[in-house]
Amino acid sequence: MPTTSQLIARRKAAVPRGVGMFAGEVSVADASGATLTDADGKQWIDLSGGIGVVNAGHCTAEVVRAIQEQAAKLLHICIHVATYEPYVALCEKLNSLLPHGGPAKTMLVNSGAEAVENAIKIARQATGRSAVICYTGAFHGRTMMGMSLTSKTGYKAGCGPYAPEIYRLPFPSYFHHGDGLPMSRFVERELQRLRDAFLSYVPKNQVAAVILEPVLGEGGFVPAPAGYLQGLRKICDENGVLLICDEVQSGFCRTGRWAAYEHAGIVPDLSTWAKSLGAGMPIGAVVGKAEVMDAAAPGTIGGTYGGNPLACAAALAAIGYMESNNLNARAAEIGERVGRRFETLKKKCSLIADVRGLGAMIAMEFCQDRDPSRPAGPAVTAILERCRERNVLVLPAGAHGNIIRVLSPLVIEDGQLNHALDVIESSVMAVAAGAAA
Ligand code: PMP
Repeated sequence: MPTTSQLIARRKAAVPRGVGMFAGEVSVADASGATLTDADGKQWIDLSGGIGVVNAGHCTAEVVRAIQEQAAKLLHICIHVATYEPYVALCEKLNSLLPHGGPAKTMLVNSGAEAVENAIKIARQATGRSAVICYTGAFHGRTMMGMSLTSKTGYKAGCGPYAPEIYRLPFPSYFHHGDGLPMSRFVERELQRLRDAFLSYVPKNQVAAVILEPVLGEGGFVPAPAGYLQGLRKICDENGVLLICDEVQSGFCRTGRWAAYEHAGIVPDLSTWAKSLGAGMPIGAVVGKAEVMDAAAPGTIGGTYGGNPLACAAALAAIGYMESNNLNARAAEIGERVGRRFETLKKKCSLIADVRGLGAMIAMEFCQDRDPSRPAGPAVTAILERCRERNVLVLPAGAHGNIIRVLSPLVIEDGQLNHALDVIESSVMAVAAGAAA
């Protein structure tokens, strides 16, 4: 077995640097629940969840068993060649969990980016229109359409030209753009931006869809106000524009619901899923109203591997596990616990400008003197480095890298979570003391 430093040296020689390392030079050999074991045999608490993928835990026994059983039966045939039960069963399950206001249909893909690509292709065919409206702070993947819809330039610099007919609005972040307005006036002002966009960016009858994350993921765990989502739904309906919710990071129990949009009581026309759907196997989905999904002509969507039998078996087992262990309720509990700790920490540390989130999708934003216009990215880099020294793996977020986000597996034990929060707290206080000195 190579050591961590040998493995990292080999990686640097064999893998291009463009495949970035977002959490320092960490290795992993195996994982279980919320615990990682690195190549040196050291144990870590994982608050990254492999970027929000293992809500149901690392190597959960039920998921592993389902993959092993499926592997012995059928590894691949391709859904365009022959119909196999795990694909159909997973689509049926997703249609019943996420009914989209009526009969729903589902297609399966391999990743979040692919789900986004396909949702846009379906929306364009369903409306006969081409334009797409998206938001600042958005992350929708690294394929050409995904990257074009993504906001942060660090993920796309030098990769253009990007896809045309994309228009971007500011994400309705009350913390960053609230300007002291009451929430209802803020929401109205932000909705007006969309109505104005139809006059000054792109005519409404050319807009196929608005795509947004109900809670920004990579953008820093900013929930869109419920009133905004309700108003957006109404404006879309009035103008024949489809609403696409990207739930790739916020879905499957992370916010205490199957979908983050449920918190606002809205239903999108289409939604995109990946990450925790497969508990670690590469799988994504587009779910939507049946008549919208069926607007895509045969042959225009799909692919060789989408809905691979192993990935479908894993997803069915992961969903079963989430249901029988009520991970939605556990996410709400984790969210409360983490939120309380972060709020207490905020009172002690003037670098913490905001604590926010939905369910267990919780983050802290660091700014000099709590001023949203003075992001403290280097402080977060130093805090996360200290956490790693004490074997707690946590990810940053946001265009300035000044946000700490918690994406722990929802199977994390209370003792592990408390210890990880202690480590975060002492790291924050140490860095804050250093910054003040
Ligand atoms: N949408 C959202 C909201 C995401 O968070 C991500 C991944 N971070 C993607 C899409 C892209 O997913 P993938 O990396 O599986 O292509």
